[in-house]
Amino acid sequence: MNPKILQLAHSGIQQLKPYAPGKPLSELEREYGITDAVKLASNESPFAPANSVMTAIKNHMAELNRYPDGNGFELKAKLAAKHQLQQTQISLGNGSNDILELAARTFVSAGDEVIFSQHSFAVYPIVTMAVNGSMQIATALPPNHSSQPYGHDLSAMLELVNKRSKLIFIANPNNPTGTYLSIAQIKEFMSSLPETVIVVIDEAYYEYVEQQDYASALELIVEYPNLIVTRTFSKAYGLPGLRIGYGLSQPAIADCLNRVRQPFNVNYLAQVAAIAALDDKAYLKQAIDNNRQQMEFLKQEFTDLNLDYIPSVGNFICVKVATDDAAPIYLKLLEQGIIVRPVASYDLPQYLRVSIGTKTENERFIAALKIALGA
Ligand SMILES: *Cc1c(COP(=O)(O)O)cnc(C)c1O
Repeated sequence: MNPKILQLAHSGIQQLKPYAPGKPLSELEREYGITDAVKLASNESPFAPANSVMTAIKNHMAELNRYPDGNGFELKAKLAAKHQLQQTQISLGNGSNDILELAARTFVSAGDEVIFSQHSFAVYPIVTMAVNGSMQIATALPPNHSSQPYGHDLSAMLELVNKRSKLIFIANPNNPTGTYLSIAQIKEFMSSLPETVIVVIDEAYYEYVEQQDYASALELIVEYPNLIVTRTFSKAYGLPGLRIGYGLSQPAIADCLNRVRQPFNVNYLAQVAAIAALDDKAYLKQAIDNNRQQMEFLKQEFTDLNLDYIPSVGNFICVKVATDDAAPIYLKLLEQGIIVRPVASYDLPQYLRVSIGTKTENERFIAALKIALGA
């Protein structure tokens, strides 16, 4: 790499480490000369998209010579009805990550402070550093916390708020820990903040959560002009390959994000697919049912193997496979054709994060894990 070129970038970019995605299946199969590998590394749905969605995509391919509807009218109409909001409150994104980035580009200038938690989603530091914002990382709850080990500590986050604070990212549930915050905690947090600080509540895993005290922060939008709630079609709806998500807020925030976004940030087939996906309740239910059953299966297996795990409400779980470094176990799983996610970069070096797969995939993972551990 030519260091002179890197020096031309601003200091935030110079310090930025690029996002490390889960290892692609094709790469593992190529490297190890195997077939039939299992990927449980990117919190993807183990199921192909709904048939209704694939049919809708096929039926609209012939229109790809046209630009998509830049305002996403039809999809916004559907989302507005679903969430009982106005279309002017919806921002569509090329994945919900697009909305996270738009929020940073819209509200954060160089030197402004952006607050998020330790062990939180890797995209928050990236979008912050890309605008040369100053990261303020709140210490997470302790490993021995009774219900949410390594979870967001909202009082620690609140302590970081000052005149330079512009933006706060909260993942609820959080990735990679799978911990969550109750709606009561979110309410109290919002009421303690000055309205000059924009809050993004990232609900990428919303559909999976079944806890009684959990609810979407959507209900708070009417009260808080500084709140953005993000959702995605990448997880329970099984469409990460298409890249589509959205933000919900009062119209004023949506207006600001709309000024910054690219004119056609959400591609045509993604819009078509999302519209069809919203109608397919059976697909969503099956995804959630599988997740519930298979999460139970994995937790039971971990308990039988005497492995600690972080209780998760998402479609993934972090399991502690080493007292110091989980990397050797990760490699032993790779050798057996199983890709999971090391989370050392999230400050959780003893853990591996495994996405919830199908019954067959999870059984293969557990069998391989036993071999890797010599259990
Ligand atoms: C997976 C994930 C997303 C989804 O991002 P998309 O751009 O919608 O695919 C968002 N936030 C968190 C915390 C995630 O783990």
